Amino acid sequence: MRPDRLNPLFISADSLKGVGPGLARPLERLGLGRVRDFAYHLPDRFVTRRAVADLDEASVGENIVVKLTPLEYRASVGRGPMRVLASDTAGNVAAITYFGRASHGGKKALPLGEARWVAGRLDQYGQMLQIVHPDHVVAESGAALSQLVEPVYPLSEGLTQGRLAALIHQAMAGVPSLPEWIEPSLLDKMHWPAWRDALELAHKGEHAAARDRLAYDELLANSLALMLVRNSNRKQVGTPLKGDGSLRARLQLPFELTGAQRRSIAEIEQDMAQPAPMLRLLQGDVGSGKTAVALEAMLVAVEGGAQAALLAPTEILARQHYETLSRMAAPTGVTIALLTGRDKGKARESILMGLMDGSIQIVVGTHAIFQDAVTYKNLAMVVIDEQHRFGVAQRVMLGQKGRRTPHCLAMTATPIPRTLTLAQYGEMDVSRLDEMPPGRQPIDTRVVAVERMGDVVGALGRHLESGHQAYWVCPMVRELESEDIAAAEARYAELKTRFGDTVVLVHGQLRPEVKDAAMERFARGEAKLLVATTVIEVGVDVPNSTLMVIEQAERFGLAQLHQLRGRVGRGEGKSTCLLLRGEALSETARERLALMRESQDGFKLAEEDLRLRGGGELLGTRQSGDTPFRVASLEQIQRLLPLAHDDARLLMERDGGLTGERGEAARLLLYLFERDWGVQLLRGG
Ligand code: ADP
Ligand code: MG
Repeated sequence: MRPDRLNPLFISADSLKGVGPGLARPLERLGLGRVRDFAYHLPDRFVTRRAVADLDEASVGENIVVKLTPLEYRASVGRGPMRVLASDTAGNVAAITYFGRASHGGKKALPLGEARWVAGRLDQYGQMLQIVHPDHVVAESGAALSQLVEPVYPLSEGLTQGRLAALIHQAMAGVPSLPEWIEPSLLDKMHWPAWRDALELAHKGEHAAARDRLAYDELLANSLALMLVRNSNRKQVGTPLKGDGSLRARLQLPFELTGAQRRSIAEIEQDMAQPAPMLRLLQGDVGSGKTAVALEAMLVAVEGGAQAALLAPTEILARQHYETLSRMAAPTGVTIALLTGRDKGKARESILMGLMDGSIQIVVGTHAIFQDAVTYKNLAMVVIDEQHRFGVAQRVMLGQKGRRTPHCLAMTATPIPRTLTLAQYGEMDVSRLDEMPPGRQPIDTRVVAVERMGDVVGALGRHLESGHQAYWVCPMVRELESEDIAAAEARYAELKTRFGDTVVLVHGQLRPEVKDAAMERFARGEAKLLVATTVIEVGVDVPNSTLMVIEQAERFGLAQLHQLRGRVGRGEGKSTCLLLRGEALSETARERLALMRESQDGFKLAEEDLRLRGGGELLGTRQSGDTPFRVASLEQIQRLLPLAHDDARLLMERDGGLTGERGEAARLLLYLFERDWGVQLLRGG
């Protein structure tokens, strides 16, 4: 249970004055559901305004505060703006401009002949100076002038800076002070303010120490929680499993295992022989051969007389795994079953029976395999594919099924940099498949200017005619979701006109059945061209698809591009990836695309991605992108995470039960960042 003193922070946003149904969507898009979220919605930057006596003193582009007297209203013509012409004390005239519905408020705020202090950005429109949608218009100078530095918050459609700032201000008033969880000596050394002060400061101005402290809190919470998971895992009772190799000897894999695969299997085997359950991450780029490793690991369990399960994030992936594993394991005579949410009636019943009586030795499926109705005779090993789709919380849940905790092997195809591995999987041991199976043809990667779209479509036509399939990827950026979907749909319509019914479309807003049906048509080879937003990132293995076109490639991160590209190059033939780029490219975008052309090494690209994303220029990716953090930036993660990690370890050594004074404070911290599954483990163990 969450400690009472945190309750004020978890009050829902609805309770703030002025939050009605109209704001629900915009707030949700920004992740602002509770008072705490507002407190932690930190400014992107600050505007600094200068008070000027008259407009002669100001330059175009500058943020200013100036006293102006409205002379005349120029009504809007058609859809044009409404302008209020106003003069400064020196007789210079400027227009204060309002678009759309804002015109009404503008007139009210600027009565003719009465001087007002106007704050905003000075622009030029033709020959005329203007201020568009001023930030403030006030009769008395005090309020505006005292706020020469103002925060600029990340916004979403339907919210204004003023509105959001007022809500944050209101929320901050309800934020309590909390006991200190950071080691006092560290706090001193870093000159960090106390928690509540840090929040206040971070909203008021560029206060690096305050921002660092807040980021550190989040990193510390994460490290602590992961260590609690690790400690609790060590105390769990697992099933030590020793395989005799009999089943594995019968496997007839059509290839030699790579050194990396053999090393990983040995590590897994050693873990599984221990009484404490294994908690291991298998990190390997797309195509590095994780499936074979997973199969060997599951066979170790079966050889040891137990059952194994493979959990996939989607139905499609579950089915694909089922087919591959059944084929590979056929010579062993092991019984493998597929169980997904779709199985109903008799078929389902008979699988459930088989799991209960142990006649099914390996089950592959979605979350359905862990529903309450499913009972295992002796499940002792679980493989989780595409780890990043499952949170740590789910991993913890797994541990609570049955008396003995199964060994857990999590697999991810996202080769993340070492620092982030620590942040994301700090509680796990890691095996890396850093060597690709031999004989892979490099994917011919080219950067093509978007003006050559005609040529690209021509090449695509020839490719499809030759009997191969292809992917066409459209960008998907959260803030403009509807526009991106519209763009993807438009592209689909266009390509369909050209290539007919063999084109299918998949994006995040389609119903799951529709999406799955399209995907299946493509997987079966009936559909030749799959137009998609980034949903194809995870999984999907269609070896005949050997061409990928990525539109607006400059908008994607390196890691994401790499992940996408990994969908091709899976078959015998040579594969091609065309990165379509827009006209104006930033320096880093250029560098990203060049790196894509030069390297296919996922681990290298991941490190470079981290370096390049430091600036956070990508659309739709908050600075920390796909890390588990919302406060800490990539730069802060790199700088502060090792510190937080050590600090967490020290605290755990001194007070593993979190019962001392600092321990109690640390519990608050865990709840604050919703890492409370860590605390729950404390109680259980
Ligand atoms: P991942 O799941 O890591 O993306 P897969 O397990 O699907 O990769 O393997 C990709 C392809 O490589 C499969 O066709 C698989 O049969 C093949 N493969 C796996 N290991 C080897 C190996 N050691 N040598 C040659 N081919 C391999
Ligand atoms: Mg795989």
